[in-house]
Amino acid sequence: MRVQGFPWYNTLDMEETKIRNRVRSFERDVFEMPEMAADLGKGRTFFIHTYGCQANVRDGETLAGMLVNMGFTEAGDVDDADLVIFNTCAIRKAAEDHVFGEIGNLKHRKEQNPEKIFALCGCMAQMPAVVERIRTAYPQIDLVFGTHNLDRFPRLLQDFLDRRERTFAVESVPGSVIENLPVQRTSAYKAFVNIMYGCDKFCTYCIVPYTRGRERSRMMEDIVREIKEFKASGGKEVTLLGQNVNAYGKDLGMEDGFTDLLNACADTGIDRIRFYSSHPRDYTVSSIEAMRTRENIMPALHLPVQSGSNDVLRRMNRGYRIERFYELFDDMKARIPDMTFTTDLIVGFPDETDEQFEDTLKLVDYCKFDLAYTFIFSPREGTPAAGYADGIPMRVKKERLQTLNDRISLYARQKNQGYIGRELLVLCDGPSKKNPDTYAGYSEENKLVNFTGRNIQEGDFVKVEITDAKSYTLDGRAAERKGL
Ligand code: SF4
Repeated sequence: MRVQGFPWYNTLDMEETKIRNRVRSFERDVFEMPEMAADLGKGRTFFIHTYGCQANVRDGETLAGMLVNMGFTEAGDVDDADLVIFNTCAIRKAAEDHVFGEIGNLKHRKEQNPEKIFALCGCMAQMPAVVERIRTAYPQIDLVFGTHNLDRFPRLLQDFLDRRERTFAVESVPGSVIENLPVQRTSAYKAFVNIMYGCDKFCTYCIVPYTRGRERSRMMEDIVREIKEFKASGGKEVTLLGQNVNAYGKDLGMEDGFTDLLNACADTGIDRIRFYSSHPRDYTVSSIEAMRTRENIMPALHLPVQSGSNDVLRRMNRGYRIERFYELFDDMKARIPDMTFTTDLIVGFPDETDEQFEDTLKLVDYCKFDLAYTFIFSPREGTPAAGYADGIPMRVKKERLQTLNDRISLYARQKNQGYIGRELLVLCDGPSKKNPDTYAGYSEENKLVNFTGRNIQEGDFVKVEITDAKSYTLDGRAAERKGL
């Protein structure tokens, strides 16, 4: 067995990671497929199981692109694949437990077919405790590689196949920016485009700065080129991805890099631009102005606030006071009244009092979010908040979550009912998963719309008259197809 990654392999240490992240230079390179790996996949199949956020989905597309370039073909499921990759998420314990359950089930498959290769990558692979558990208790996993080693995957796979020796490539480094990585996109019309990687914010509950390295931006010309190429191939919508897109370009010395990037992306003429995710700390009025003035930047903002209480925000190390969030919200609503506004909220942060939870409800009452992703605090080993004293019983946390969800659902439904009778422009994703007689797609405001119509294809823009509203979806009928 080979373990690469000392000295970081045995520890997840905040101070060490912060020191690591102070390194201001990191590798910029261009990916080239190693010659020896080019034919590795001939006659072999692969299946990638992706968990978690859009960054992981995008990583999964990169892995698929590499595998196709190596001659692999995609299998329909785990059973039909010669190589199975678990592309994992570490943001919450429940996600981690789920993956352990899945890989535990692989044991008998490996016994039946020892030639089958099982690999695990993504954020879990950057957590030393997880890696140690896999090393000692999950011998069916052949190859573990971290988020910092994505570009080395063909070489690691080739090494494994040459030696058939379990391999762990999990070093924690400041990170790199590697261009020209292959990609096999899951949609011909919608694309995730990484604009930056990593995060320097060190929220006390979050594992991401440890698993994804320091904030580092791609060069603007590389991002714009990717969007132009996607548009030229028929692409219609891009989502710019980063843990904190508002910090784009800071490491490149740009003053207002995200606004400059938004404008440069809008200049490509692609039909729709979205971005995910934002941070209140780095928000600039100029980026909201870009959203207001450029018609291909969609009027939908996801701005995670996490709590309505200043004390909780301070202990989370979020870097802003709640008054700042209220100000931002008012300013955005004044500039773009029709903009939809979504957020993330954590309940049951260690020792969160009733009053602090009430502050979160007050915030929800004020903002009436279109949607909020809500979570009970999940301690992540090695992060500061995992060591905070917490006297709040899980029963209370669950009750708070229910109260919060009921409130959010109420406002979401009210907001959605305001769309009844209006016409929204929807980019069709194809037949609805739940009902193949209807279509589904997202409006400019990022509302999920199920609608009836005829002869509509995935990738069509359709004007849809909204006839009904639920908390999280709208129903409607196609009024007219645009641009066909
Ligand atoms: S800004 Fe987001 S990704 Fe970064 S540490 Fe905070 S919660 Fe995690």
